[in-house]
Amino acid sequence: MPRALITGITGQDGIYLAEFLALKGYEIFGLLRGQNNPKATAVQQAVPSIKLLGGDLRDLPSLIGAMEIAKPDEVYNLGAISFVGLSWDQAELTSGITGMGVLRVLEALRIFTQNDMSRIRFYQASSSEMFGKVREVPQRETTAFHPRSPYGVAKAFGHHLTVNYRESYGAHACAGILFNHESPRRGHEFVTRKVTRGAARIALGLQDRLVLGNLEARRDWGFAGDYVEAMWLMLQQERPEDYVIATGQTHSIRDLLDIAFQRVGIPNWQSHVLQDPRLFRPADVDLLVGDASRARDELGWKPRGDFRTLIEMMVDADLADGEQNEKQAAGSGNRHR
Ligand code: NAP
Repeated sequence: MPRALITGITGQDGIYLAEFLALKGYEIFGLLRGQNNPKATAVQQAVPSIKLLGGDLRDLPSLIGAMEIAKPDEVYNLGAISFVGLSWDQAELTSGITGMGVLRVLEALRIFTQNDMSRIRFYQASSSEMFGKVREVPQRETTAFHPRSPYGVAKAFGHHLTVNYRESYGAHACAGILFNHESPRRGHEFVTRKVTRGAARIALGLQDRLVLGNLEARRDWGFAGDYVEAMWLMLQQERPEDYVIATGQTHSIRDLLDIAFQRVGIPNWQSHVLQDPRLFRPADVDLLVGDASRARDELGWKPRGDFRTLIEMMVDADLADGEQNEKQAAGSGNRHR
């Protein structure tokens, strides 16, 4: 039975990846931070066989300890402060976790394997945000980086380290340069989820307005469930490489609003949406759109669903969630509307 250690297990991708690996027969260990992390229950419900280990990306000894218990064949480093907006407000924290965290995981691996790093396969969650002020469209593995946020800078640091440990120590280390990917498990702070949840709540009469930043921003959005398969495929290759994972198509926030509000039966979203310039990024990225042809040719990977299906799935999940919360509130006599 192969063994995998996942950091960022409580995040969107951590749970999808754990479900995917469980179906493949893996023994899975997840790194869980904090004393009484409230998200542990959701992880255990999704993957009952998982073993959760305490540890933090800021704490090297805890990472070495996790390696010693898990004795992994594969390590997936998904843990990060992953919200770009927060990275301007908490740049030092973001650098320490999203950037330096990669160094600590790689060092833990190097120490645990006594420099024989090739015997454990390592995946680093790199990001399209590294391309930032883009040098070419679409972006591919060879496109130079010009990150536009502290998050993007920290990811570029982690990416270069991954390549460097491959070249310096022969590590079987791969970086997946993933473009945005979403799901009903996406954090509420991210724009897709903010819109799908907002549309559902407005339709249910639970909120009136949705406050957003730049409606013209465009992104290459895929489904997280598809993208975790690409992570696994990378680690099954004989030769470690870096891969762009993307759909190759972009949509604007306006497109997102059209689909989400249509789904809940509200034809005119304009009367519910406010734009707040304070939510604009201090320095925004240009047109991020990925060319995933290397992943298609070498890994046999391609995205499955389309954008509309993804957004409708998210809206439906948020409607069900809102209705459930309403029922619970009504049942407990705590209905405040
Ligand atoms: P996410 O939902 O924000 O999850 C982040 C995870 O990191 C959470 O499990 C969080 O734990 C954990 N974490 C944060 N600080 C930590 C620390 N100090 N020590 C240990 N764990 C810590 O992110 P995601 O969407 O699943 O993304 C997974 C990875 O892919 C991230 O590295 C992200 O930057 C990268 N990525 C994501 C996308 C995307 O569109 N989703 C695109 C490109 C790259 P808590 O729950 O305890 O906070």
